[in-house]
Amino acid sequence: NNNNSNKETGYISSVIPGWFSEISPMWPGEAHSLKVEKILFQGKSEYQNVMVFQSSTYGKVLVLDGVIQLTERDECAYQEMITHLPLCSIPNPKKVLVIGGGDGGVLREVSRHSSVEHVDICEIDKMVVDVSKQFFPDVAVGYEDPRVALHIGDGVAFLKAVPAGTYDAVIVDSSDPIGPAQELFEKPFFELVAKALRPGGVLCTQAESIWLHMHIIEDIVVNCRQIFKGSVNYAWTTVPTYPSGVIGFMLCSTEGPAVDFKHPVNPVDADESHCKSKGPLKFYNKEIHAAAFCLPSFAKKVIESK
Ligand code: SAM
Repeated sequence: NNNNSNKETGYISSVIPGWFSEISPMWPGEAHSLKVEKILFQGKSEYQNVMVFQSSTYGKVLVLDGVIQLTERDECAYQEMITHLPLCSIPNPKKVLVIGGGDGGVLREVSRHSSVEHVDICEIDKMVVDVSKQFFPDVAVGYEDPRVALHIGDGVAFLKAVPAGTYDAVIVDSSDPIGPAQELFEKPFFELVAKALRPGGVLCTQAESIWLHMHIIEDIVVNCRQIFKGSVNYAWTTVPTYPSGVIGFMLCSTEGPAVDFKHPVNPVDADESHCKSKGPLKFYNKEIHAAAFCLPSFAKKVIESK
C-alpha cells in the first residue's frame, strides 16, 4: 500500500500522475479528470494554450487554456444540439454565421441542411482550425463543404461589418467568458447579432451550465429579452466531459415571423448522399429537441422570472 492506492479495494486517490484534471476558477472546488494515454500536441497561439491528448475512454481531447472543448466520444451531444435546435426551428435556413467553433463540428452539422446556401465562420484562432484538421478529421470535415467561407478574426469585429438583415441564423460556439470569448457574452455583442439577423432570424449561443453558472445565465437572459423581440428560450443538453456534465444554449429570435423553438418545423435532411462523409446523426432527434427546453424547477424559476 502506498499513500494513494489500496490494492484490495481498487481505490485510488484523486491526485494521480498521468491524468488530466480540469481546474478553473469558473468551477472552484471541483475538477473532472480523464486518464491520459499520450499528449499529441501542445502549443501556444496568440490567444491561448492549445493541447490535444489521447484519453483512454473518450478518444482524442481538445483543450484550450486548460478547459476541455471537445472529445471524440461526446462532441455529438454538443455540436448536433447547438446547430439543429436553431436550424430545425425555422423553415429553409439559407445564410448562416458561426462565431467561434474553429474545430469545424458546427459546420459539419450545418451542412446537413440542404436549404443552406452559404455559411460564414469567424474563428479568432487559426491554431484551433489547424489542430482540428490535423487531429480531428471527423469533426473538421465540416470545412470540406464548398458553401463554407472561413474568416480568421474576432467575432465582434466581424459582426460590425455585416450589413443589417444578412443571416437567417447565427450560431455562437464560443469558449467560456474568460479570455478571448468574454465579449461574446456581453450586451453590445447581442445587439450586433440582432442587427445581423433578418426579421424572424434566430440566434443560438453557448450559455453555460445551470449547475455552475446561473448568474451568467441570468445576465444573458436579461440582455436577450431586451434585445430580441421574438422568442427567448433556454435549452440544455448533456455532455459528460463538460464541467457538471451539462451545457445550455440561449435561443432567441428577432421580431418578425414567429419562431416556436419548442416545436421544430424543419427536420434535418435525411438525404444519405448529402451526409455520406459525415455519418448519421448520433444524438439529435425531434423528441430530444422538444425535451431540451424542459428545465428543472430551480432553473425555470430564475429564467422565467427575468
Ligand atoms: N464545440 C466546443 C465547445 O463549445 O466547447 C468547442 C468550442 S470552440 C473550439 C470555441 C472557439 O471559440 C475557440 O476555438 C475560440 O478560439 C473561439 N473564440 C473565442 N473567442 C472568440 C472571438 N471573440 N471571436 C471568434 N472566436 C472566438
